[in-house]
Amino acid sequence: MPQRKLWSALLDACFPARCVSCGQQAQHGAWCRACHTALPRIEKGCVRCAAPLSASSGTLCGACLNRAPPFDATLAACRYTFPLDQLLQDFKYGHHLALAAPLAQLLIEDCQRALASPSEDSPFREAPTHIVAMPLAAARQIERGFNQAQELAHLVAAALKLPLLTDALIRAKDAPKQATLPWRERHKNVRGAFACRRDLSGCRVLLIDDVMTTGATVAAATKALRDGGAAKVFIGVAARASVTQETGVP
Ligand SMILES: [Zn+2]
Ligand SMILES: [Zn+2]
Repeated sequence: MPQRKLWSALLDACFPARCVSCGQQAQHGAWCRACHTALPRIEKGCVRCAAPLSASSGTLCGACLNRAPPFDATLAACRYTFPLDQLLQDFKYGHHLALAAPLAQLLIEDCQRALASPSEDSPFREAPTHIVAMPLAAARQIERGFNQAQELAHLVAAALKLPLLTDALIRAKDAPKQATLPWRERHKNVRGAFACRRDLSGCRVLLIDDVMTTGATVAAATKALRDGGAAKVFIGVAARASVTQETGVP
């Protein structure tokens, strides 16, 4: 056993990792067995927007059938319910940066599953080529000190061995916080909020954010990425909220 691995095995034996959700001894990555089993996974989600669907539904939700969003597909590991809601709030507002890895891991596993053996009609038959993080407004990033989406995107890019384009997408205007608005107004609020500063011709972009609610923010960002030439835009989020939930999503 190489010395570094031995050292980390020794550390693990002396200080066993604690479940990020309940504090018991972790057994499945960052989770104990019970919390890992109880994670609110989306067993079947809309291919386009990841909204949870019943087992008997088709591949698209009613909203996407009615009006297809501009992005090609969405991956969301879990619903935005306990414990994901608390963990994401702690991560984002409590500056608990150690939560980036377990939250990103959920998304990484979801991406790896989708990319491992895509079916004939899967949008992931053409895999993403680049990762982009949802940018924060400059003032908000200064206030918070970090961009939670960037932290997740960095880990996803490393795990999928894809380049992370940190300068491609910017906030073009300082829109009011999405979470402060009724969800019906969120599309209007983020229209034109993003700009693409890089030629993305031919790129298939996986855009990473922490939470998706109405999809208004990712839709506006997708339009900017497409204006930059992106051939496909996939969305990857740690958790998917329903439109009736208040998420604190900026
Ligand atoms: Zn636990
Ligand atoms: Zn949908």
